[in-house]
Amino acid sequence: QFIKTEDAETGTGSVRGIEGENDFSGKRYVWLKDPSTAFVRGWVVEESEGDMLLVQCEDGSQRQVLADAVDKVNPAKFDKANDMAELTHLNEPSVVHNLQMRYQSDLIYTYSGLFLVTVNPYCPLPIYSRDYINMYKGRGREDTKPHIFAMADEAFRNLVDEGANQSILVTGESGAGKTENTKKVIQYLAAVATSDTPRAKSGGRHISNLSEQILRANPILEAFGNAQTVRNNNSSRFGKFIRIEFTRAGQIAGAFIDWYLLEKSRVVRINTNERSYHIFYQLLQGAGTKMKRDFLLDGLDIGDFEYTKHGNDTITGVSDQEEWNSLVEAFHIMGFSERDQTSILRKMAAILHLGNIRATKESIRADQAALGTDARSHAAKVCQLLGIPLDPFIKALLHPRVKAGREWVEKVQTPEQVNLTLDALAKGIYERGFGDLVNRINRQLDCGGGADDSHFIGVLDIAGFEIFDENSFEQLCINFTNEKLQQFFNHHMFVLEQEEYAREQIEWNFIDFGRDLQPTIDLIELSNPIGIFSCLDEDCVMPKATDKTFTEKLNSLWDRKTPKYRRSILNQGFILTHYAAEVEYSTEGWLEKNKDPMNDNATRLLADSSDKHIAHLFSDCVEADDEQGAARSRVKKGLFRTVAQRHKEQLSTLMTQLHSTHPHFVRCIIPNHKKRPKQFSAPLVLDQLRCNGVLEGIRIARTGFPNRLPFVEFRTRYEVLCKDMPTNPLEGREIAKLMLGKLKLDRSLYRVGLTKVFFRAGVLAELEEQRDEL
Ligand code: ATP
Ligand code: MG
Repeated sequence: QFIKTEDAETGTGSVRGIEGENDFSGKRYVWLKDPSTAFVRGWVVEESEGDMLLVQCEDGSQRQVLADAVDKVNPAKFDKANDMAELTHLNEPSVVHNLQMRYQSDLIYTYSGLFLVTVNPYCPLPIYSRDYINMYKGRGREDTKPHIFAMADEAFRNLVDEGANQSILVTGESGAGKTENTKKVIQYLAAVATSDTPRAKSGGRHISNLSEQILRANPILEAFGNAQTVRNNNSSRFGKFIRIEFTRAGQIAGAFIDWYLLEKSRVVRINTNERSYHIFYQLLQGAGTKMKRDFLLDGLDIGDFEYTKHGNDTITGVSDQEEWNSLVEAFHIMGFSERDQTSILRKMAAILHLGNIRATKESIRADQAALGTDARSHAAKVCQLLGIPLDPFIKALLHPRVKAGREWVEKVQTPEQVNLTLDALAKGIYERGFGDLVNRINRQLDCGGGADDSHFIGVLDIAGFEIFDENSFEQLCINFTNEKLQQFFNHHMFVLEQEEYAREQIEWNFIDFGRDLQPTIDLIELSNPIGIFSCLDEDCVMPKATDKTFTEKLNSLWDRKTPKYRRSILNQGFILTHYAAEVEYSTEGWLEKNKDPMNDNATRLLADSSDKHIAHLFSDCVEADDEQGAARSRVKKGLFRTVAQRHKEQLSTLMTQLHSTHPHFVRCIIPNHKKRPKQFSAPLVLDQLRCNGVLEGIRIARTGFPNRLPFVEFRTRYEVLCKDMPTNPLEGREIAKLMLGKLKLDRSLYRVGLTKVFFRAGVLAELEEQRDEL
């Protein structure tokens, strides 16, 4: 129902209307919905009363369907169209069919209006070589085939010619190819930005190093931020925005990486057939004897650690040893000192050992936690690696001191609580370590604040809209992000369309569909009236609040108050209407997830660590033992953010940056869930087109005049349909008007601009039909 046949201007089915006037001759092809293949093509055998059609389908079956339920097939001229916006019948089956035909011919890139759509080939294609880079360099979208290089080149040219910041937004579901395409963009920019610009005598070396370094940041980010999942052997478990800064002359001046929502739970818990972060396996497989001895990993392997032993050991076709070597090389090129490397990697070893400290019951009757001999020996290793004293650490685990009023009291812990504390520490160290790693990379790539006239191209590689069987807080954060990005797209499209109509002096008020998304966005992010995030934050500081009371509060605030929110009937949770679909969220564990607590007895020890690096990571956790210190700590506490707050702020910074750019949109599509080439599942693809906004973009385009032909092209192709054409050289616009009169097209179906004719969807098919009849 995304593709309406309604005419936005008249509110009637005018496109269908013209068809009534011009009956089809020959076979009339239509698309039928099909539960297993999404669509099947066929031709109408018989049109019976009651608007029923008998259709001979290409799969051999004959089916009776309602005339309203079929979609039109595009004329052959539109086969394997480079840009789906040019299809005259802009419907779901035609879009999926076009992508499928192209995919089978290894044409993995296709435009759909403002979108560049790409379907993961799941095999190396020879389309990213130096020759391809040269082929795309400096050439416009009109002169080349759809490609990620074409988009990167357009961004680069805009940047150099207009001095305007650019962004390339890459989204899609896991395994769709976001990170691969992001890498291609950077590869392209690094190649074109340095190759033809004359190098400055003194700065030349530095600049070529810089693009090398930008490329080498990736193996480091991937070692620490990527993992094998069932969907993707190299799945990024964080979002990133890489800003590449350029001088006015188009040379790379520096880069900066922002990151979002690292999936740190993976450090402590993995599904079978998945792995934890690559770095753990690389370290265990790749590190030399000395390092392993220093890290107390001697003779130990993946199967010896609680955090790694429940998943896969290896990834088919990947050598962790070789990956380790490229990581070490990348560290060198990025200018990480031996000491920095060691201190980063030592923390990874500490995390592995942390997982092996498991608390047990002190006695059969008491539920109080104790550490056995094994656990204590693991704890000793952890403390040695983290540079903290053992006894206070064990005390922090088993008997943490908490403030009750003005008094400090020792709490009794159950084994579960202790194990949760250990996991939280592992996650905390990992996340802070990751943040620190990115900071170091950023310092290395820093262009020194950048000259005033420098500009950037930002590439966003972030997970697309997610709907799982069970959706939690993480999905809300991702879907909220995508809702915002979709709004950004809709609004951008509105602005561009409006500009085009104005430029061509056409009367048409395009609708800003970005506004449609505002109610859902407000519902999540507003603090007044209180939205979901704020409500969650509020309950996180209420002593008695639970996930259940939070959910009840939300329901009482929003259920029946807005069409975008409904309470869940069966589960503890709610249902939100996003632009892409309705999603049911389960609120189990949200308070903890949002608070993301760490045992502050332990974090204070870390802040005091003899390892400067560790102490630095936890410097916001220092104990306040004098008044000044207390004040400092209060300020620091003021800096404390819930996960929701942090995400909202980060997203708002991102959106501000994006608004300062000329955006380009890439939509990656996964063709099957088997990681196999040439297998194209139409229902799976259709689903993604709905979630990633491509169909939404088409729906919006259809409310205007999506098909556009320059006067010359219009005349060349359709002159044959007009009798008595003048031979004298009239101006293009006059001829176009004359032809439109002769074609007897209703005025609501077209507009004549200054350089082209604009058509409503479907009109060109009629003209094609008439040509075929000649
Ligand atoms: P995630 O959200 O899990 O990080 P992603 O969208 O970033 O997923 P990628 O890691 O980019 O997905 O791609 C998954 C795999 O698909 C790659 O490791 C590669 O094997 C293959 N692939 C993706 N794009 C291409 C391409 N253009 N050419 C060849 N192979 C590709
Ligand atoms: Mg990725």
